Amino acid sequence: MSSQRVLHDHFFREAKRNGYRSRAAYKLTEIDDKRSILRKKDFVLDLGAAPGSWLQVASKRVGPRGKIIGVDLKEIDNLQLDNVTTIQEDVTELSLETFENEMFDVVLSDMAPSTTGNRTIDHHGSVRLCHTALDIAATLLKPKGNLVMKVLEGGAYKELLERCETCFSVAKGFKPKASRAISTEMFVVCTGRKEDMTKPMDIAPPRPSSGW
Ligand code: SAM
Repeated sequence: MSSQRVLHDHFFREAKRNGYRSRAAYKLTEIDDKRSILRKKDFVLDLGAAPGSWLQVASKRVGPRGKIIGVDLKEIDNLQLDNVTTIQEDVTELSLETFENEMFDVVLSDMAPSTTGNRTIDHHGSVRLCHTALDIAATLLKPKGNLVMKVLEGGAYKELLERCETCFSVAKGFKPKASRAISTEMFVVCTGRKEDMTKPMDIAPPRPSSGW
């Protein structure tokens, strides 16, 4: 068995053993252990939350006085966590009214486009979702708030990171051990939303108009 396969089996088995809905739980766990994204009592928005393992991790980390809202195209069933609410919705079509003017301490995005197998197309689909997450953060993230988002690496990564650097005190790429080594997936970890985080639609690639 290849070492990659062993790694896969390790995180898969751990997720099963610990009751997580997917191995992705270990990606957020490692990111938070290393970069301290989540705190007790935080209000968290999780974009692309199905099947729910990041919700499970965030639920524990923010504790009973924190709150998490998970949004996904797919239904997220039966999580049974008191501090978690879920919404079935396309993130690109979310309306501001959904959150009743509440602001979040943290925005997470593990969103991934439906993959085509073509790395360039998949990369650009992923980058578009990241720009959507940034647009949402520009509207809903509290000053000094944090954003973590998944991206498939490729040519537009540099420009995405530059946008993050203009909006946050620190923005850095992170490849967790639970990400498969052969995958182009990585995470941009942004901390300390700047007060003047602009909505730089001007440098984001064109995308369908939405409520954001
Ligand atoms: N973080 C999740 C977990 O730990 O269980 C796994 C997320 S999964 C890798 C990516 C998710 O992004 C999919 O469930 C997909 O439906 C969702 N997604 C992709 N595009 C989306 C969009 N435009 N709006 C909402 N969800 C989206």
